[in-house]
Amino acid sequence: MEFGLKTESLTVDMAAVQRRKRHMVRELRDIHAEHIAASGAELIRGLARFIAPRTVEIEPHDGSRRTIRGARVFLDLGSRAAIPQVPGLAEAPPMTHVEALELDRLPKHLIVLGGGYVGLELSQAFRRFGSNVRVIEHGLQLASREDPDVGAALKDLFVDEGIEVLLDSTVRRVEGRSCDRVRVSVSDERGDRLIDGTDLLVAPGREPNTNGIRLDKTGVQLDERGYIETMYPVFGIRGACYLLGVSEWIFCLLIFIGFWNKTAGVLGALGGIASFVGTRTIIPFMPDGWAASAGGFPAMTERVAFLMKDLVLLAVSFYLLKQDLLRLSIERSTDTRDESYSGELPISPNSSKRTA
Ligand SMILES: Cc1cc2nc3c(=O)[nH]c(=O)nc-3n(C[C@H](O)[C@H](O)[C@H](O)COP(=O)(O)OP(=O)(O)OC[C@H]3O[C@@H](n4cnc5c(N)ncnc54)[C@H](O)[C@@H]3O)c2cc1C
Repeated sequence: MEFGLKTESLTVDMAAVQRRKRHMVRELRDIHAEHIAASGAELIRGLARFIAPRTVEIEPHDGSRRTIRGARVFLDLGSRAAIPQVPGLAEAPPMTHVEALELDRLPKHLIVLGGGYVGLELSQAFRRFGSNVRVIEHGLQLASREDPDVGAALKDLFVDEGIEVLLDSTVRRVEGRSCDRVRVSVSDERGDRLIDGTDLLVAPGREPNTNGIRLDKTGVQLDERGYIETMYPVFGIRGACYLLGVSEWIFCLLIFIGFWNKTAGVLGALGGIASFVGTRTIIPFMPDGWAASAGGFPAMTERVAFLMKDLVLLAVSFYLLKQDLLRLSIERSTDTRDESYSGELPISPNSSKRTA
């Protein structure tokens, strides 16, 4: 009423909502397809799996097979909704965001498992369309990656909108079928309770699409959750960055030892200059390269600190190199003179006469 607007009634036509969504998706797909075609890149539609390092075999949707090899292969496989191991859940079967976004009807009582970004987004959307919504979250707050005050504010907002939020709650069992009648048994510190609904949506987190594509053929390592651990082999470009960082510290040490040992000083200074050139060449192409090149030294993770270290090392290297080379050349000429005096002197008859 603040703005003087009055709404007598509002009804939602989900079939029309869905039509509009499909139209938007189609338009966006067409735009992306045009961009890809204009870029000159070839778009192959099909399932790919590795048969050797940097080599994938593709099964296009027309049933044919194709093998392609790339100097570099980028893995952009995405992720899918995880389905928790809860008795009766898989049999329900629940919607994920994929099915929820395809609905052309409004769920009457929607139960959402998971109070993360996806669960919250869809809960709010369906509540605003008119569904009764309950969110069941295992953790102590909504949006667990946010600060607690953000989670608390989100909960207040949801409760204000008429969404029931159950925190610190564990789903024990699911009975019935989603899209019809479903019953979820939940336990929290107060005990067990049964929640009835018509539809069930799972949004408890994501799992990566890394299985089934034979990454074992590539040497790419996966962590225990299936995420790619590192794209770089130990002695690849990242290893080289660490090596450069560590070697810079060693060159610094050699320069310092150079105050007592000239050869060490020259080696340190030459190495310092070489590693500076190497670092400047490799780092800009390397994600997190500035941090990696700090050679694992914890205080040197900032780019500024790194540049200071390198620029100072370079300046000191040049200065000491000049000094050391100067000193070395002086010593060498002194040594040469000493050697010529320590051996048998070529005594000319005249000189022997003079010494005699
Ligand atoms: C409901 C929801 C809402 C979201 N909202 C937002 C938002 O508002 N803002 C935001 O920034 N992000 C949002 N995200 C996250 C965003 O969608 C992802 O971060 C993004 O899609 C990741 O891009 P991707 O290219 O890595 O993976 P994807 O977009 O998942 O693309 C991966 C593609 O690889 C294909 N693929 C997988 N395996 C193979 C194989 N073996 N061979 C061939 N193809 C394969 C898949 O079919 C898929 O097409 C949302 C996600 C969800 C689920």
